Amino acid sequence: MSKESKESLFRKIGGGVIIGVLVGHLLKISPLDATHWTWDFLKSCGSILVEKVAVPKWLLGTFILVCALLVGWIYQRIRAAFSEITYLDYREDCFDGITWRWSYDLNGHMHQIRGYCLTCDTTLVSSEEEDRGFEYSTGQTFTTFRCERCPDSRIRLLGDRVYIFARIERQIDRAVRVGDWKKVVEERRKLESAKK
Ligand SMILES: [Zn+2]
Repeated sequence: MSKESKESLFRKIGGGVIIGVLVGHLLKISPLDATHWTWDFLKSCGSILVEKVAVPKWLLGTFILVCALLVGWIYQRIRAAFSEITYLDYREDCFDGITWRWSYDLNGHMHQIRGYCLTCDTTLVSSEEEDRGFEYSTGQTFTTFRCERCPDSRIRLLGDRVYIFARIERQIDRAVRVGDWKKVVEERRKLESAKK
């Protein structure tokens, strides 16, 4: 319980006690009588609750059936609420032959985008280089992603690191907005459950 809600609770209890004492004073009821009456009321409530009642078996059976159905319905709703996927479950996708993974901050904004090898799932190492043709340099920057475990898996993409990561971020943003993320998450879940 937070400090504010605790203070609010204490204020309410204190207010209730003061109002009770004032009403008791106006009605000329002593605090001792009020305590006795409250205790008697609680005791009669308790005796009603433990009192045995005779009900027809069909009514008891119907009651048990309704309770069972209600419990089943509540269980299904809770299960559906927990298993319902949201875009925050979309944390992995494949673009340009690379598996990209990322996280979300508390505001739901993606961050920490990293590329992984499609073959062995190792984090890829990136390096920038300028294109130098035979005749002249085109001045274009390329970023090469390579896996330290798989020497043949070099992927060269046009643009520097900042551009590439911003482009991947735009792809993720698009998938979230148009709803493609759901298909990706469902397919990943199917693959994961098939592996188990
Ligand atoms: Zn690899």
